[in-house]
Amino acid sequence: MPGSDTPLLVALLFASFATSVMVALRYFLASGLFSWLTERVRPGLYAQQRSQIRREIAWSLTAAAIYGTPAGLMLWSWRNLGWTQVYTDFTALPLWYLPLSAFVYLFVQDTWFYWTHRAMHEPRLFRIAHAVHHKSRPPTAWTAMSFHWVESLTGAILIPLLVFIVPIHIAMLGVVLGIATIMGVTNHMGWEIFPRRLVHSALGHWLITASHHEKHHEDYRCNFGLYFRFWDHLCGTDRGLSRRITGARRGAPAPATVAPKTAPLAPPRGPEAS
Ligand SMILES: [Zn+2]
Ligand SMILES: [Zn+2]
Repeated sequence: MPGSDTPLLVALLFASFATSVMVALRYFLASGLFSWLTERVRPGLYAQQRSQIRREIAWSLTAAAIYGTPAGLMLWSWRNLGWTQVYTDFTALPLWYLPLSAFVYLFVQDTWFYWTHRAMHEPRLFRIAHAVHHKSRPPTAWTAMSFHWVESLTGAILIPLLVFIVPIHIAMLGVVLGIATIMGVTNHMGWEIFPRRLVHSALGHWLITASHHEKHHEDYRCNFGLYFRFWDHLCGTDRGLSRRITGARRGAPAPATVAPKTAPLAPPRGPEAS
């Protein structure tokens, strides 16, 4: 670890590199765990996707380097300069603020993702950047961070910026990052981990799980949200759940890899593609 007499640039580079390694490890741990679970719950679901998974891992490692850089800079300025609004004393703000702050972070992240994601479906941006993510047909537990570097940049800056503006306890920041990790992986996993009772409930009408995000990977022109269906409902882009997922049953043989090899890479023409 660099000490207090380390040149600033070296300290910042070290912080960014170390955080990128942590992000990559988090990816391998989370995607590896849910990939293992998939093999137990839906044996053979990824059998025909070995080369796709190799590509997803390569893009995800690039994404980890990009995500780790602003996060590392933010962590360094928090520890060394106290610049951020991250606090460690539970009594510094009212206790009711703890869950509220986590919700605010998730909602802002969801809003940012919805609109940048819709922008990524504009044909030029789609070709340049977002096609990488949609090349996963169908997605797997390893797709969670499979982004072109342009798209990674848009995702990487938000939370490191937000911590300078909205106060959050370090534990709640951990909760937010935990939710981001788990939902990012499970939403691409190809099967629904949450109970049908929740997915089809009044609450499920507002939450995004694999059944909802898989529909985005099938249809391209709908279901752009990250955690909540708020913006999709408000903007008329919510087209419900994937029949492939909601129709599948535990222990059923894995459906053959669903998407034909000739599937188009560009989004079908539609309101978001114009
Ligand atoms: Zn996706
Ligand atoms: Zn998309």
